[in-house]
Amino acid sequence: MASTIEYTPPDHYLVDELFTDEHKIVRGAIRDWVNKSVLPVIEDYCNRAEFPRHLIKELGDIGAFGPFIPNEYGGAGMDHIAYGLIMQELERGDTGIRSAASVQTSLVMYPIFQFGSEEQKRNYLPRLASGEIIGCFGLTEPNHGSDPGSMVTRITDKGDHYLLNGAKLWITNSTIADISIVWAKDDNNVIRGMIVEKGWEGLTAPETHGKWSLRASVTGELVFDNVKVPKDNILPNVKGLKGPLSCLSSARYGIAWGAIGAAMDCFDAAVRYSKERIQFGKPIAAKQLQQKKLAEALTEITKAQLLAWRLGSLRNQGKATPAMISMAKRNNVEMALNIARDTRQILGAMGITNDYPMMRHMMNLESVITYEGTHDIHLLITGEAITGIPAYK
Ligand SMILES: Cc1cc2nc3c(=O)[nH]c(=O)nc-3n(C[C@H](O)[C@H](O)[C@H](O)COP(=O)(O)OP(=O)(O)OC[C@H]3O[C@@H](n4cnc5c(N)ncnc54)[C@H](O)[C@@H]3O)c2cc1C
Repeated sequence: MASTIEYTPPDHYLVDELFTDEHKIVRGAIRDWVNKSVLPVIEDYCNRAEFPRHLIKELGDIGAFGPFIPNEYGGAGMDHIAYGLIMQELERGDTGIRSAASVQTSLVMYPIFQFGSEEQKRNYLPRLASGEIIGCFGLTEPNHGSDPGSMVTRITDKGDHYLLNGAKLWITNSTIADISIVWAKDDNNVIRGMIVEKGWEGLTAPETHGKWSLRASVTGELVFDNVKVPKDNILPNVKGLKGPLSCLSSARYGIAWGAIGAAMDCFDAAVRYSKERIQFGKPIAAKQLQQKKLAEALTEITKAQLLAWRLGSLRNQGKATPAMISMAKRNNVEMALNIARDTRQILGAMGITNDYPMMRHMMNLESVITYEGTHDIHLLITGEAITGIPAYK
């Protein structure tokens, strides 16, 4: 573990100067928490394919849930760059931990804050912020992944309540969630969001096993068999696909930052190792081929840092479009995956072991390049921004 705890994050373009003191304090606090609470246990949890659930309360305590949600609802009232830096530091620890914070913040707290009634906000947000309760987000279905608008999960109006029927698949934290934000079509074929609580009759959440990626994160289904949903649990202020898509924009924004953390962790471990490992009488860091890998990694990290910072500034001003977010998510995740692969090679055989973080990050990033919109779909969103033609349809 020493290789990751002795950590020198790269900052070739003095990007630190773009952050406020508050940003740096928040980043430092999360980095210290990752060193103390995540790195010592994460390989073990990944080996056992288990989510370190005890960290949920600690994530609440360090302010990782809902950092941009106002104080009156239990959030920290910070800006989007602070949120991004929190995601970066958490994903340096592990994508599973960042995913838990992303889902809770962007896919559960954000829709309640943005589209919920005052009563829903006061009831759920403070408890989600503190980690007292865990939420999940049910959009993807067995037969509808990239095309969620074709979902078949339905609510039927029964007067004072709805009956919910259908199934959601690949849902992060579904098996442990106290509440689920579920998206389903109503009798008029309009997509509505709702808050479904654990323990309601007809709701089951079986776990999905056998993942080689995101092993320290729980993934499962949500199955609804005539689940009675009170009308008060519908999110009143949004209708249509823009509801879930705006949540995804917030989460994808966080992923664009999170991926940088994974890449920085791999880069730092590779620099350290390459200076210590002697072959042919010299450190491998002295060899041009290894310097090429490190130089290219630093270049890509630097570009990703600047992209994320600019996107964060635009998001703070309300100017970041979904297409801008797509570009950053796509670029930064591919960047991190390539760096995980290249830096693993720098370590030779040692790179495949769990003494170093590369293989774990690499396997995790295979999920990140697929979830929250696949790499292909984000490319097509950029294509649509250029041409005005949605080629994914
Ligand atoms: C670990 C994990 C956690 C997840 N957590 C959640 C969660 O919490 N909540 C949730 O709702 N979902 C979650 N997901 C689901 C995730 O968002 C979907 O996997 C993703 O949207 C892709 O859907 P799919 O897997 O069905 O792939 P598909 O949509 O079937 O795509 C398969 C392939 O076809 C390509 N493709 C699809 N459409 C087009 C097109 N029009 N043009 C060109 N190529 C296309 C895709 O790029 C991909 O390569 C999670 C997934 C994973 C792996």
